[in-house]
Amino acid sequence: MKHITTLLKEGVVLGDGGYLIELERRGYVDSGSRREKVGTGRGSGQFTPEVAIEHPDALRELHREFLNAGSQVLQALTFFGTREKLSRAGYGADTERINATAVKLAKEVAGNRALVAGSVSRTQLTEREGMESLGKSRDHLAEQIRLLMDAGVDFLILETFFHLAEMRIALECAAAAGLPAVATMSFRPLITQCTDGHTPAECAKIMADCGAIAVGANCEQEPGRMIPLLREMRAATSIPLAAQPAAFHTTDQCHSFTRLPAFPDALETIQVARHEFQNFGKAAKQDGIGYLGGCCGCNAAYIRALKDGLEEAK
Ligand SMILES: [Zn+2]
Repeated sequence: MKHITTLLKEGVVLGDGGYLIELERRGYVDSGSRREKVGTGRGSGQFTPEVAIEHPDALRELHREFLNAGSQVLQALTFFGTREKLSRAGYGADTERINATAVKLAKEVAGNRALVAGSVSRTQLTEREGMESLGKSRDHLAEQIRLLMDAGVDFLILETFFHLAEMRIALECAAAAGLPAVATMSFRPLITQCTDGHTPAECAKIMADCGAIAVGANCEQEPGRMIPLLREMRAATSIPLAAQPAAFHTTDQCHSFTRLPAFPDALETIQVARHEFQNFGKAAKQDGIGYLGGCCGCNAAYIRALKDGLEEAK
């Protein structure tokens, strides 16, 4: 397989979709909604990736579906896989095993047909304990990134960070591990700024300056809502943009589906039709997007739609 930076130079790279919401729908992941109010950003053991060790066949199957739909990259299901977040779900002692197994499963399915990215997200410490917890975040992010490096990922996707300050730390840890990193922020409740007050343009510039190989946004918005913020980022940096939109409708008052009452138990009522992803794929090149995938709600049908859109644009 070619290196991710080579693929990005050659054209738009097609990634994969969202794992946790899809596996929750299939009965393998706990959304936490029976125990507490989900979507506050302060959740405890919600949407954690222990499915890698508890139901490996379910995870293998979803990887196979994305690969079959045309994904050139499979993300190991290591999202929310820091010891901090896993401990809150009761899986702290399994941190090494969950991360190593998730990478092993993705590599097994990818073979020589796709690259494998380690997915790293926020610790949730910043939402829970404030900015003074960033030192602790650094320890947890550094540990997980080391585990992913040891397991043999090709590169990292740093995603669903709410605070740019925590993203900067993740980028520093990636650089220390010598792993290339795609960096995408999530904007909520509006697309105008991230939780610690930076505009999309500022985020793009700073993430690029911190060494990311592609910068952009993921989760929270459907493609139509995410495009304006990506254009703002496009104007602020010349490196490739990365976009992994959610497949759920948002509203003019709330640009983030995880803040809507439909999250997480009525997502069927706000699902976006896949033609929106097809149109997004069609427009990607023209908007300067170099890495294209999906986040929550995006299963293999949406990846196929993105691929169709990319092909139509040729
Ligand atoms: Zn998502």
